[in-house]
Amino acid sequence: MKIMKFGGTSVGSVDSIKKVKQIVEAEREPVIVVVSALGGITDQLIRTAVMATRGDIAYESEFNSMARRHEEMIQQVIPSGSKKRMLEKSIHALLDELKDIYQGLYLLKDISSNMEDTVVSYGERLSSLIVGALIEEAEVFDARSFMKTERKHNKHLLDSELSNQLIRETFRELPKVSVVPGFISSDKNTGRVTNLGRGGSDYTAAVIAAVLEASVLEIWTDVDGFMTADPKVISTAYAIEELSYVEAMELCNFGAKVVYPPTIYPAFHENIPILIKNTFNPKAQGTIIRAQLSDNTKPIKGISSINDTALITVQGLGMVGVIGVNHRIFRTLAQNGISVFLVSQASSENSTSIGVRNVDADLACEVLNAEFAKEIATGEINNVVAEKGLATVAIVGENMKHTPGIAGKLFGTLGRNGINVIACAQGASETNISFVVDATWLRKTLNVIHDSFFLSEYQVLNLFICGVGTVGGSLIEQIRQQREKLMMERGLKLNVVGVASGHYAVFDRDGIDLNNYRELLKQGGESNLDRLKEEVIGMNIFNSVFVDCTASDDVASLYKDFLNHNISVVAANKVAASSQYENYKELKQTARRRGVKFLFETNVGAGLPIINTINDLINSGDKILRIEAVVSGTLNFIFNTISDEIKLSDTIRLAKEKGYSEPDPRIDLSGKDVIRKLVILAREAGYPIEQDDVEKNLFIPQELFEGSLDDFWAKVPALDADFEERRQRLVAENKRWRFVARLDEGKASVSLQEVNQWHPFYNLEGSNNIILLTTERYKEYPMMIQGYGAGASVTAAGVFADIMSIANI
Ligand code: ADP
Ligand code: ASP
Ligand code: MG
Repeated sequence: MKIMKFGGTSVGSVDSIKKVKQIVEAEREPVIVVVSALGGITDQLIRTAVMATRGDIAYESEFNSMARRHEEMIQQVIPSGSKKRMLEKSIHALLDELKDIYQGLYLLKDISSNMEDTVVSYGERLSSLIVGALIEEAEVFDARSFMKTERKHNKHLLDSELSNQLIRETFRELPKVSVVPGFISSDKNTGRVTNLGRGGSDYTAAVIAAVLEASVLEIWTDVDGFMTADPKVISTAYAIEELSYVEAMELCNFGAKVVYPPTIYPAFHENIPILIKNTFNPKAQGTIIRAQLSDNTKPIKGISSINDTALITVQGLGMVGVIGVNHRIFRTLAQNGISVFLVSQASSENSTSIGVRNVDADLACEVLNAEFAKEIATGEINNVVAEKGLATVAIVGENMKHTPGIAGKLFGTLGRNGINVIACAQGASETNISFVVDATWLRKTLNVIHDSFFLSEYQVLNLFICGVGTVGGSLIEQIRQQREKLMMERGLKLNVVGVASGHYAVFDRDGIDLNNYRELLKQGGESNLDRLKEEVIGMNIFNSVFVDCTASDDVASLYKDFLNHNISVVAANKVAASSQYENYKELKQTARRRGVKFLFETNVGAGLPIINTINDLINSGDKILRIEAVVSGTLNFIFNTISDEIKLSDTIRLAKEKGYSEPDPRIDLSGKDVIRKLVILAREAGYPIEQDDVEKNLFIPQELFEGSLDDFWAKVPALDADFEERRQRLVAENKRWRFVARLDEGKASVSLQEVNQWHPFYNLEGSNNIILLTTERYKEYPMMIQGYGAGASVTAAGVFADIMSIANI
């Protein structure tokens, strides 16, 4: 014999209730079917009562809609005939009673708790009649005749002994299908209708299962089983195959609504397995809750949470070593009916924190302040205060026991994502670690933990990409092409959650379709700095990286805020790393303090591994003595192209046309770009220099940089003749020009140099870059890094590499 419980959603619609019929009728052995009210009806019954009591006549239309819902259900699922006529008669009789009750409430404007219990009982009474008529060979029983409660601590508690006896008597003879309304009961003394608490149909089913020693208790609901987390919050949650009774208890007691907590104990006591199944997907395996589990289960089974948390802290130096303080705290709370669900006390005994529901917080403070009034007056104990608006999260699993590193992983993950833990508790049973966070961080908290404990097959990195020009555009294309492979081979999911151009910005925490991002960008609304900052920080999404592919000062000014919100920054933009040394230092320190990254490898030499190499040398104890570098692809192109036919002014124009130079080529010609790069290299090499410290030896007179861009184009040909003369001499001497950045013993300079054919810079082709690093270890033969130093695709690839290195944290 088995018990099958169908929840509100399972009996809530025509389609679902037909599925219930199929599922039950497929059973061969006798079954007891416990049903909830039609989904949403219990809430609506209560809401309507509140309206009527308030004198709001709109209660009538609420009532009518409930009546119509039941009537329409009957019309659509029960075939015409005498059975249907009898059902309609019973349903109308119940609805008439209910209507009279509401009218009474409307007139009296008063509702007792007993009346409220009466009102809500109609939900299950109505639904059980419909299901009873729908299923072949079914007989309906009235749970009020055997589920008996008594009043204790202002609550209706089941009298198990009496109920067990009555259940045994009621089901001495088992029909093929017995249909029982869940949730409702009656008082053993007064006979008045009562109930077992919201969600209580599960409990009705468990109690019957235990008494009749059912082979299994099946709970049919609207999800594929007990999931790793609430699927309404975590879209990637999945059904857990099996749970122990303890694990199920820990999880459902703590917010996993799928099973009503008191349900577990009766089943556990009689060792009856509980199977959670999906009415809408009966083929899914579901979750089995039982005593013996297979060996290979994970240490963490699930995560649950309670959003509604306040933390009461009793604190004071006078508490240390005093016996009986905790006794007084808990006695006082218990006497005032305040339930405590988390306790944390430091071993110094100087403070005890207690988690309660927000509604209980003020009362808790009041009664504790009264209890400790004397100690507060003398200063031994501080005034008791409550911190409201918090949330409690628990990770649960019996295999956590004796497995080191779970708490480390948990708190490490939270820390890296900027989530502050306000209090935490782990009992010696080691089946549950609970902790309290600010409620506004709950969603992110659940996501990061779920991601790190359950989806460890792949890690998610959430990217905001700012700038969709040549570099940003290439990056997005590279991500689009690599994504599948990274997911399959590296277990890394790159989720682009924001894209911004100078004009538009689009944000979507579920990920932006990269095949269509330009279109989505246009529909995403206007882009401006404030919005960018608000959206990126406001999304508060875990494992996030802001990628700056612009050259904008404004965008660079946002980094500090982002890092402070635990968002890593990857910049192709050189502005921040070459800004005031103090600012550069602060950004690096902020990143370190927050456990995130600030990376800008592409600031020098595009995709060439220069900054990383310098860091690796220094981290391993080397010292950078000298850096000589050609790091301007533009200038190198100019000096490689200049010839007797192509004059200086022509090469500048050509560099611009080919996209090698900045839109205003003077930024390259003035050495500004090279100076920035040199400053960045020097700083990474351990020399705290500013741009002004770099000695400039320019090859174009200063006055050409002072006027407008048009003036510049007009005046630059005047330099051609002189340059040509110098060039001819250079050719005769078999030398070449290179614009060299140099750092020597902390002194930085940029200058146009003539190199002979034995110099390593002599053969530097096209727009390539070269860097020579002379260090204590690489002294006689400096280390040389050479290759493409400019271009959208190599720069984007460098940015991509920075992003990948964040994934490897
Ligand atoms: P029923 O009406 O069948 O009793 P409930 O609404 O009481 O259904 O419980 C099922 C719901 O519980 C699911 O739809 C889901 O939103 C919620 N839920 C919360 N946590 C979990 C979890 N860990 N696993 C499964 N469902 C959960
Ligand atoms: N109908 C009741 C409720 O909504 C009981 C249940 O569904 O289990 O709380
Ligand atoms: Mg339920």
